[in-house]
Amino acid sequence: PTDINSLAEEYLRLAYHGLRAKDKEFNATLVTHLDPNLGQVSVESQEISRVLLNLFTNAFYTVREKQHQSADDYKPTVTVSTARTRAGVEIRVRDNGKGIAEPVKQKIFQPFFTTKPTGEGTGLGLSLSYDIITKGHGGTLTVDTKEGEFTEFIITLPVAVEMA
Ligand code: ADP
Ligand code: MG
Repeated sequence: PTDINSLAEEYLRLAYHGLRAKDKEFNATLVTHLDPNLGQVSVESQEISRVLLNLFTNAFYTVREKQHQSADDYKPTVTVSTARTRAGVEIRVRDNGKGIAEPVKQKIFQPFFTTKPTGEGTGLGLSLSYDIITKGHGGTLTVDTKEGEFTEFIITLPVAVEMA
């Protein structure tokens, strides 16, 4: 049994502080909307942690890039939301970064696909995450994005919710 809210919060901070350790200039606003009725769910918590870390790392990467290209009034923001649904739980990871162009969006879940410079990305994060969520947990991983505006990854996990 896993407390998804705690994982979400913990890994959001971990990803942020990991990046801040390498780049002291980088500042982002972290937002959490955690459903207090989420309860405990039965998942492979290490695997879900990996997925969250991948998504958060990608989110911080894009808002940092956008910050370097934007005016001072741009506020990098990464938001994680959780919600109970009829089928189980839903986790959303949203950033106000560069967004994803349509032709790129078609390829992001393919293994080794990356738009990052050599050494900065393996292109494996999303394909691994996709397998963990779909094959490993019978859930879904989808993306909603608008170029120049935002990207939101949506995880659904069909799991029985046990009240804490
Ligand atoms: P990597 O991070 O090593 O490039 P991923 O599988 O995690 O590999 O992501 C693949 C590609 O998807 C990235 O190179 C990037 O082009 C795109 N991408 C993923 N997440 C985001 C995001 N939050 N905003 C914009 N582009 C993204
Ligand atoms: Mg990645």
